Order: sequence, then structure tokens, then C-alpha cells
Amino acid sequence: MRFITASFLIVIFSCAKYQVNANGDWCYEGNDCGPSHWAGDCKTGKSQSPIDLNSTLARNRADRKTLRLDDEYFKFYDNFFILNNGHSIQIQLKDTARSDCLMDGAGLKGSYIFAQMHFHWGSNSNVGSEHTVDGKHYPMELHLVHYSDKYDTLVSALQDSNRRAVAVLGIFFEITERDNPAIQSIVNEIPKVREPEHTLVAKPAQGRLNLTALLPRNLELWRYEGSLTTPSCAEKVVWSVFRHPIGISEKQLNEFRSAKDSHGKPLVNNFRPTLALARRVVKYINVDQLLRKTDDPSNEIEDDPDASESTTIDQHDTDSHGHGIDHENDETHTHSGEDNSIDSNKDSGAQRISTPLLSILLCIFLCCSASQISKILQH
Ligand SMILES: [Zn+2]
Repeated sequence: MRFITASFLIVIFSCAKYQVNANGDWCYEGNDCGPSHWAGDCKTGKSQSPIDLNSTLARNRADRKTLRLDDEYFKFYDNFFILNNGHSIQIQLKDTARSDCLMDGAGLKGSYIFAQMHFHWGSNSNVGSEHTVDGKHYPMELHLVHYSDKYDTLVSALQDSNRRAVAVLGIFFEITERDNPAIQSIVNEIPKVREPEHTLVAKPAQGRLNLTALLPRNLELWRYEGSLTTPSCAEKVVWSVFRHPIGISEKQLNEFRSAKDSHGKPLVNNFRPTLALARRVVKYINVDQLLRKTDDPSNEIEDDPDASESTTIDQHDTDSHGHGIDHENDETHTHSGEDNSIDSNKDSGAQRISTPLLSILLCIFLCCSASQISKILQH
């Protein structure tokens, strides 16, 4: 039953049954099923992903945030689940797309549960990532898919109208000489799923998988509101794309390239071309701290920096083609009350209490001193 549920969830999320062509399939390269043929929100949506990101925003580092992950993120998983769904290699911690890993902070509103992660990669290392930086691809991009803890499942999150129902962490890879041990447990299991699984049931896998080892050391990120990058392209995703890549060797990447798609061809170039930023804004967020939620005495969750009109306009696109990024607003325009990090809240609160108290104490001290001086003078 659990496997049936898992299969159901994965089918809906990966939208393998999404009607694009006569065969009811979608693809990345093809005359009748490629991205230009994807329908629904993919065609008509105004907040689509991926997009091109602007590296000059990195100058702006005033907005400091903390990313908080619970203990489950820091565990080493000896058993996990792996699936070739014909479009990507997907990893889950359970046989369903859910877990006990909870994330908040980093300017996100509320908490999000880790569901699954999957990869996008190229046939060669000049392409592969979905997001681009200044028009350039990285050879691979990892997506850690989360859904808001207001929902029971990823499916119910995607069915709601909430435009922030899903949160995805995007991590770029760059080629390194050495293998990256953090990714090796997944690489080792790829031969098990070289052929796509038509039933979309994830297979049990063994290794030493640690989610936090997949995060870059420097957690500065781009934040914007967008969509799933596969059909149905639902516009319910708050994106966090880390600026700094992690490593992968060509040998490890070739293992991904050895997988087959549902047509028996090499599963490569599974990235959607970038879309227009249009009226959206991209924020550059300086996440300078990673905390275990249990080590953080504060249960406060950071306010949503994008919820009101008083947001930082970091990157916007004045034309509708997604390539004419306007650099006019590269500088931060911080409005009052915007830097709502946990620390700054505490500081300002302490200041509000201590200022009147200090005035009273000073007053008493001065009164006492005056009375003492007057007594001395009288003597
Ligand atoms: Zn993805």
C-alpha cells in the first residue's frame, strides 16, 4: 500500500501523465514534446522557472539571515530511496516523497518539510543547470524540494492556491578533480536505476547520505517566486538558489549521464530553458549562519521579507524576454523594519526596554547626588 501511495505521489509530482503530446508524455528535446510544447502554466504562466540570475547582486550583503534545519537534516542515512523517473534521478529518504526534515529561516515564511531531491545535468559540462548565472550554465543543479508544513503532502501543497506552498533549494555543481564524497553514495546507486522505472516506484538504496553535506559552505542565495520547472509548471515555488557551487568530478557526473530516459536514449540535458523574470524581483540574501533548530533557543521565525511592499528590489527585468536584466536597482534599498533577523529583533526589543529604565536610574542618581551636595554645602 505504501508503495502504491509513493507511486501515486511521484506520478502526480513528476507529472508523467501530463498531456503534452499524443502519447501523453513530455520531454526536454523533441519535435512534439519539448519545452515549447509544454501546455498550461508552462505556456501561459507569468512567474515561470528557471530564470537567469545576476551575479552583480552579490555586492549587496547587508541583509543577514540564518538558515535553521532540524536534527533530521544532520543525520547520516544508511538507507534511502532512488528513482529514475525518465526525466531525472530522484532521491527520497522514505518510500514516499516526504521526510521528518524541517527547515525554516533564511527569510522564508514558516517551516518547510523536505520531500525529495533530484538533479538536472548536461551531456557535457558546458550545460546542465536549469538556472543560469549571467547567462552561463553550471554542469549540474540539485533541487531539494520542500513543502510547507501546513500541508500533509507535497501533492496537497501543489493543489492549494498558495504561491509559496513549495520551497526548493537549488545547488549548482562545478567540476572538481576529486570526487565529492557527499554525492558518492548516490553515484554508487545509479547503476541500480540506469533504466527508468515505469511504475515510478523508488528503489531502496544503501550508502551514507547526509543532506547538509550537499549544501555549500557559503550560504548566500538568490530568492524569488517561481514555478516547478517540469509540467505542470505550477507557480507555487519560493526559490532559494545558492550562489556558491559544490563540487563533482567528471567521473561522478558521467555516472548520471549513463542513465537512460523513457525512450532508451541517454538521460542528459534535462534542463528547461530560462524564462522571463518579467515583473518579479530577485533578492540576494546573505545567509551567514546555519543553525540546528534544537541549538537555537529562539523559536521565533523570521518575518517574511517579501510579504509587504517594503521589499528590497534587487534584480528586475524591464523587458519580457528574460535577458535584459536592469542593473539600476543593484544597490539595496533597505526600508525600515525590513531586516527582521532574529538577532536584530532581540536587540531592538532590549533597546526599547532599557532606554526608559536608564533614564529613571539616571534621574534617581542625579537627585541623590544633588541632595548629598546640598548636605555637604550646609555643613
Ligand atoms: Zn528540478
